[in-house]
Amino acid sequence: MSALLEVKGVTGGYSASHAVIEDVSFRIQKNEIVALIGLNGAGKSTTIKHILGLLEPQKGEISIAGRTFFDDPDSYRHAYAYIPESPIYYEELTLWEHLELAAMSHGLSKEEWEERSLPLLKEFRMEAAKDRFPQQFSKGMRQKLMIMMALMVQPSLYIVDEPILGLDPLGIRTLLTWLARCKEQGAGILMSTHILATAEKYCDRFIILHKGRIKAQGTLDELRQSTGMTGHSLDDIYLHLVEEE
Ligand code: ATP
Repeated sequence: MSALLEVKGVTGGYSASHAVIEDVSFRIQKNEIVALIGLNGAGKSTTIKHILGLLEPQKGEISIAGRTFFDDPDSYRHAYAYIPESPIYYEELTLWEHLELAAMSHGLSKEEWEERSLPLLKEFRMEAAKDRFPQQFSKGMRQKLMIMMALMVQPSLYIVDEPILGLDPLGIRTLLTWLARCKEQGAGILMSTHILATAEKYCDRFIILHKGRIKAQGTLDELRQSTGMTGHSLDDIYLHLVEEE
């Protein structure tokens, strides 16, 4: 059976003459949350842009449920939901209209998206903001809008770029609990983050990207074994790996 997401030997970046990521390979399966971690500039967002189909690999291939972006861009884009690091919104649409737009672009019926959206508004404590415009929102409220648009679609694959920064502690708990529930129901989640204690608690596997290359990947136990750091936290192992150079 093909993986939900397969990144195979991908070298890429923003210009043909300069690769930002090199020979990056990993898979995301159903029922797992995988953390993509690395220092500022390591190439996490660049890797994510390749997965989204916004950048074309110079080498290698990326497939979602066995299909590449170039096989069929529309069905590729519909196979995932993306939560961006910086909110992207329309000034002239309210929160509720953004949810409707996301639903329309994924072919959901009115009953379906309303039924899914109301509990999201409640859990993210955004009911009072339903008919307001995101321009009047705080940073965290805009981030919640992006999160609700993605969660409402209920895709099999979530690509989440640094979701935690900007959210209050209740928002963080709601998001992570919701993602854990999606995982239990069969979704796969790739989440880039700098918050390693949270990653250690919620993620099943870890991909450590350093200077555009994968330095290590595996479960916490596998990383402990490969580094000989029995009993150490993800934070300790990560710092050891990136400071070793
Ligand atoms: P951070 O944790 O700071 O978000 P990151 O791991 O997501 O970092 P990237 O944004 O992927 O890092 O950046 C990797 C490299 O690609 C950096 O050297 C950066 O300067 C470069 N880069 C990022 N965006 C562009 C762009 N639009 N054009 C050219 N180079 C870029």
